[in-house]
Amino acid sequence: MIKKYIRKILGINKTDAAGNNMEPDTLGPKQHGIDPALLSNNAIRVTKTLQDAGFKAYVVGGAVRDLLLGVKPKDFDIATNATPEQVKRLFRRAFIIGKRFQIVHVMFGQDLLEVTTFRGPASGESPKDEHGRVLRDNTFGQHHEDAVRRDFTINAMYYDPATQTVLDFHGGMADIRKKILRIIGIPEARFREDPVRMLRAVRFAARLQFTIDPATAAPIAVMAPLINNVPSARVFDEMLKLLLSGQALACLKRLRSEGLHHGLLPLLDVVLEQPMGEKFITLALAATDERVKLGKPVSPGFLFASLLWHQVLEKWTAYQAAGENPIPALHLAADDVLDTQSDKLAIQRKIGSDMRDIWAMQPRFERRIGKSPYKLLEHPRLRASYDFLLLRCASGEIDAEIGAWWTSFMAADGNEREVLLTPKPRSAATPAGAAKRGASRGGRGRKKIGGGTESAQ
Ligand code: ATP
Ligand code: MG
Repeated sequence: MIKKYIRKILGINKTDAAGNNMEPDTLGPKQHGIDPALLSNNAIRVTKTLQDAGFKAYVVGGAVRDLLLGVKPKDFDIATNATPEQVKRLFRRAFIIGKRFQIVHVMFGQDLLEVTTFRGPASGESPKDEHGRVLRDNTFGQHHEDAVRRDFTINAMYYDPATQTVLDFHGGMADIRKKILRIIGIPEARFREDPVRMLRAVRFAARLQFTIDPATAAPIAVMAPLINNVPSARVFDEMLKLLLSGQALACLKRLRSEGLHHGLLPLLDVVLEQPMGEKFITLALAATDERVKLGKPVSPGFLFASLLWHQVLEKWTAYQAAGENPIPALHLAADDVLDTQSDKLAIQRKIGSDMRDIWAMQPRFERRIGKSPYKLLEHPRLRASYDFLLLRCASGEIDAEIGAWWTSFMAADGNEREVLLTPKPRSAATPAGAAKRGASRGGRGRKKIGGGTESAQ
């Protein structure tokens, strides 16, 4: 104890053979200022149950970071020295999941807590791919070894609700105060082991409005292409987290400035370079961020449909120019875009089909005669597709009048709808007959890339 105190005064910490800091700074309530009211009862329940059974148990990772920032964590991860089997035995509804690295899901009603056994050092023998990405390493370890494996200093703190102390192995508290995102260890090595950490760096920096420490940021531009070797399902998960962070726009800007967007959504870089595409995506993400901040649900299908729309649009036009009819052309374009994406980003089947629905609905909004609009009202994807239509209007891709018409039509009662559907004699430029012909071909409102559209009425 005295030795530890002296070391602390001298700023020296005990290190293991690998040079890892073994003794954390221990911060009491006055130093860390965590409001215990922000903690979930279930997190307290899990740590207490484990501790009562003689194990160590802490809240860890993002939850501690958020608590320190005064934000209510959205979920709680627990770290312990109990093995998954030992954890499972202590809870009524606990499930061991994962093959590569087993963790335990402890459930209380709808609430799920992830309990992870302290992980050991990534040994030199851990299998890696040819680029140095660690494929498998599933060793349990000591507490300080668990800390060193975590990604950023601010994500490597442990909170014990019983004693209200924070254990800080890597200067996370100082970085929180300075609003710095710093990777633990040698940045190049950590990004090579797991290139997804580069995306995480961008996400956390944008979401928390932290600066990325220069040494952490420096290798990202060069190492960005390593993302291409990460399994696409994992990249997709990370992209989704990024897009649903409430700071999607900031994240995307940051990805671009770090040169990370190239590897992520192929074609997205092309889209962002077109003013129309950029405007559309900017509006879509701003709307998404707004929804997230208001606690409203966001559909991943809508998000990805937005991100890739201008790519679809381009191909749609190309297929039509090659003589394909508009509707089949749109489906071909959607196939192309989804296929190209799936190499890099495994868009889940359900999300892919939502995207398709939203895209396929778009030409149908332009048929504003007869029974068509009524049929559309019954479509299960109407709301998302209508929101999408409004984005197209707001971005200047199509005439704003179409969106306004649908807004009126959806809000109207039966008689008003009939009135809206009656062709206006004033609009001599587009007589009803012409509109009908156009509608039956499904060809009205075809887009001119980078320009307006043939307005329907
Ligand atoms: P969020 O608020 O987005 O959930 P988080 O920090 O909790 O942020 P998670 O993905 O839930 O992120 O991960 C929980 C913790 O696990 C992290 O805080 C970090 O300590 C560790 N971790 C997650 N992913 C990695 C990784 N790729 N490399 C190293 N450590 C990681
Ligand atoms: Mg988390």
